[in-house]
Amino acid sequence: MAYNRPRQYDLFEFEQHNRQFLFLDGKLYTGDNIRAGELGHVIIDPHSRRRCYCGQCGCFDAICNVAVLESCAGGSLSRFFEQLAAEEKDIKKVWNTYTNHLALAIHNLKMMLDCTIIIGGYLGAEIGPFIDDLYRKIDKLSVFTPYSKAYVYPCKYKREAKTIQHTIDGSCAPGLFPLVSIPTIVGCVGALLIIIAAIATPIAKTQRAREIWFYVMSGGAVLKIVTMEIARSIL
Ligand SMILES: [Zn+2]
Repeated sequence: MAYNRPRQYDLFEFEQHNRQFLFLDGKLYTGDNIRAGELGHVIIDPHSRRRCYCGQCGCFDAICNVAVLESCAGGSLSRFFEQLAAEEKDIKKVWNTYTNHLALAIHNLKMMLDCTIIIGGYLGAEIGPFIDDLYRKIDKLSVFTPYSKAYVYPCKYKREAKTIQHTIDGSCAPGLFPLVSIPTIVGCVGALLIIIAAIATPIAKTQRAREIWFYVMSGGAVLKIVTMEIARSIL
């Protein structure tokens, strides 16, 4: 998998659980035990009583999970940001605490990896108008790199991004091929042949007819496999 830019970064996905993906030189870095980038279980508030699903208290995942915000707005993150825009006092307080923790996590990550950080998931989709709050707090913590705007940014593809590159810059759309393309159309024809033959074979009256439908079905399968392999070798 190739990536345009940046070559070294961390992607935060803020959904039901925070997930982090660590990329070094354009490749996913997994670590010795496939646990690299487990920022979710780094303790960022040792005094917190908020328990993480791992059993610890104060984990980044437990504290910066979007559920923390949603739970204050009837389970809706959009509503939370609407209320924040309306400057509701309690919501502002929650946002203040949340961004304190998030800024700390991002600052620590920046110090450790000196990388670009992309905020993805549901939070990445909503944080845009309020991201300056976060920038201000990160910049306050940072000694070496005071302009967090240059290395922290929300994902461009807002909802249900299916590929990492798509999340980052909207390119490399999900799926191997575009919906309307020759490989997809040929693949659909192959699938159609398989379906027709599957229906026709049991109701065919003669052995010879069943034999023909069997060849049609096999032809459809071969057509799909060949199309996929040719397209894969060309792409
Ligand atoms: Zn944890």
